[in-house]
Amino acid sequence: MQDHRRLGRELGLFDTDPLMGAGLPYWLPDGAVVRHVLEEYVREVEREAGYRHVYSPVLGKRELYEISGHWDHYSDDMFPPMRMGGGAGEEVVLRPSLCPHHALIYRSRSHSYRELPLRIAELGAMYRSEPSGVLGGLTRVRSIQLNDAHIFCTPDQAVGEARAALGLIRRAYDDLGIRATRYRLSLPGGGQDGRGKYVPDPELWRRATGLLEEVLDGVDHEAVEGEAAFYGPKIDVQVTDPAGRESTLSTVQIDFHQPERFGLRYIGSDGRKHRPVMVHRSIIGSVERAVAHLVEAHAGAFPVWLAPVQLVVLPVGDGQEEQALDVVRRARARGVRAELSGCGDGTLGARVRAARLVPYLAVIGEREADGDRAAVRLRDGRRPGAVPVAELLGRIGARAADRGAELWAAA
Ligand SMILES: [Zn+2]
Repeated sequence: MQDHRRLGRELGLFDTDPLMGAGLPYWLPDGAVVRHVLEEYVREVEREAGYRHVYSPVLGKRELYEISGHWDHYSDDMFPPMRMGGGAGEEVVLRPSLCPHHALIYRSRSHSYRELPLRIAELGAMYRSEPSGVLGGLTRVRSIQLNDAHIFCTPDQAVGEARAALGLIRRAYDDLGIRATRYRLSLPGGGQDGRGKYVPDPELWRRATGLLEEVLDGVDHEAVEGEAAFYGPKIDVQVTDPAGRESTLSTVQIDFHQPERFGLRYIGSDGRKHRPVMVHRSIIGSVERAVAHLVEAHAGAFPVWLAPVQLVVLPVGDGQEEQALDVVRRARARGVRAELSGCGDGTLGARVRAARLVPYLAVIGEREADGDRAAVRLRDGRRPGAVPVAELLGRIGARAADRGAELWAAA
């Protein structure tokens, strides 16, 4: 059983403290490395695909969420508002999503059709008031770092943008070494309006659902009622953990509701004002859930490019400690995440076992130290033999750069 909570503790990735509160995990140094690499990867993929990044605050006035519709349809999942002093009665709320902020960022400037599609991305915090009974590990949390983006486009561009977003999701899953088990078209609940859960606008639902069906044309998928966002249907990319439990990691949505609520406009080629469409999409979902899934899917043995420690250097005896430390220094200078496991940490066998999830081990005995070499052991059990240190570091760097799964391809 690969439980990310047990592995996360064993690997020193994250933890919680009752004094910080349930559902509010903190990231330990090795977990912070994984998260940082993952976040930078997502930003790089997004930059390449023409997204521009922004930062927006985690708080907003209550009125903002009244306009967006969260207040009417989503307040059960929101933290209670904070009343500000001064008697003006102003209330601010921890945001339950980034969409309203991005809608305001779009609205802050006038836009011509020539600027569209305008892709705004942010890896930002949002908050969900989950009941304490369901909280656990990184999968059910109250503080969420979401890989979010909103594409403001013309109605004609929406399907193409949503398809391109699905393409980014597929590419990311390849690089991360994970697999989508199902594409789900999530529709509103059976009973009309689902007891106030969904905005009551049949035409909006019909249009958005039609476009998402077009996006999914040729993609094996399943329509499921009762899983839509309150403002529209969505495509959920489902993953399955080793215990067979399915959850949503990535999403793509086509939204007519928020542009209407926020009165968004662009100037068309006819010189008139038109309403843009908002495509909401997340490539890896929340960083918390993505890391939980990666830990479980790889049983803690991360792909080289994501591994918190890529290389452990092990001197056989005290006489090689200096040389081993030098290898660690050279590795770090080349961007390889390396650690020393010195003789004080136990017998060689114990030190090798302790590093069982690290992709590369470099053992340095007397002979290797003399020739500036390292006896290489791979995580999968192979032993390519003694290779020059420079070659080893070059290979690790190349693996990390191409995000490949193979540890030691034939040279
Ligand atoms: Zn959104």
